[in-house]
Amino acid sequence: MTKLTIGWLYPTLMSTYGDRGNVICLQRRCQWRNIPVSILPLDQECDSSKFAQVDLIVGGGAQDRQQEIVMRDLKGDKARTLKQILTDGVPGVFTCGSPQLLGHYYEPAFGERIEGLGILDLVSKHPGPNAQRCIGNVVFDITASPLLEEIGSFWRDLPRVIGFENHGGRTYLADVAALGKVVKGYGNNGEDQTEGAFYQNAIATYAHGPLLPKNPFLADWLIYKSLSRQSSTKVTLDPLDDSLAYKARESLLMRHGL
Ligand code: GLN
Repeated sequence: MTKLTIGWLYPTLMSTYGDRGNVICLQRRCQWRNIPVSILPLDQECDSSKFAQVDLIVGGGAQDRQQEIVMRDLKGDKARTLKQILTDGVPGVFTCGSPQLLGHYYEPAFGERIEGLGILDLVSKHPGPNAQRCIGNVVFDITASPLLEEIGSFWRDLPRVIGFENHGGRTYLADVAALGKVVKGYGNNGEDQTEGAFYQNAIATYAHGPLLPKNPFLADWLIYKSLSRQSSTKVTLDPLDDSLAYKARESLLMRHGL
């Protein structure tokens, strides 16, 4: 049975907003299907060889200060390896502070510009300490291909994603696909109705929640892509009972008249 090694980017620095829930969700959805799964922290304690071992990557959100600390370490071979594996199609889900660091730069509310990895063709800028933060429930419809088509063909869901956003930075896309179109909330910047970004098999989003337990079809798409990529065939995942998650989704969508 193909196993799945989940790389978790800087767990102690980048889980300020509960995105560890994405790791737990992926791990449990594999265990419920008897798919061997392990979690590998990708942080200051490891070298770039660990980055090359993962089959799926999760990056969470962080405050500006922690993002600056992460980028002191995420450079050289580690940065090159992360760029290589994402470009090669290793699936991943990156939330808020993580995608800001995968872009060209992030200008925080205070201090110097944080140079990013340039993997995603985007930039992020905090408009300053007096600017309103982008906080609240967020709802968006996936628009990125082939994610949209693959989700549509495998799962009954309209690819409508729900989550919670809490960011000061505003993200502006250049030559990279938006993940989706905002239905409710701010999304990337509260101006152009884009939310997140999609590159190869990497999902970048401002949606915390955690994202994956609220949107089980995204968790399963990540598992499906990782296993299919490893086995060079389109694997089929056993269905799970997500009725409780869908009840929670319906309740939130109804609350917002959607
Ligand atoms: N510190 C970044 C910002 O405020 C990211 C926040 C987050 O990860 N939720 O935009």
